[in-house]
Amino acid sequence: MKRDSIRWNPSHNKRPKSNTCFSPRTGKPLSVYPSHSAAKQGADYANSAYDSNLVPYQCKKCRKWHLSPQDRHTPSRVCPKCIGANGRRKSLYKTQSDAASRADILAKEQQVDLTVYKCPHNRGWHLTKAQ
Ligand SMILES: [Zn+2]
Ligand SMILES: [Zn+2]
Repeated sequence: MKRDSIRWNPSHNKRPKSNTCFSPRTGKPLSVYPSHSAAKQGADYANSAYDSNLVPYQCKKCRKWHLSPQDRHTPSRVCPKCIGANGRRKSLYKTQSDAASRADILAKEQQVDLTVYKCPHNRGWHLTKAQ
């Protein structure tokens, strides 16, 4: 019996959870912070404790702050040449691996199957729905 392992952990209990916002990956409530500096502290703590790479962002829904893994913030811009199927300019990724990691995130969050391809105008890399 390892009852001792179920200890109250202040660092966990101190983090308030949102009741409006949930992780698209896990469906669990997101940690919520009242300000950027509080979120930054939370991120610093988590990054050193769990070896993660979280960054604070302000939520559009609840106007408070949550943490998001850095890899979500894949640098992207729009291609000046390519228009997507929805009539909007296509997102452009600087490197193939940026595009691939974005595809990975979208696959997990939205269950879409995306393929990376090179911009025909040589501006970078795009994603397209796999057939
Ligand atoms: Zn929120
Ligand atoms: Zn393009």
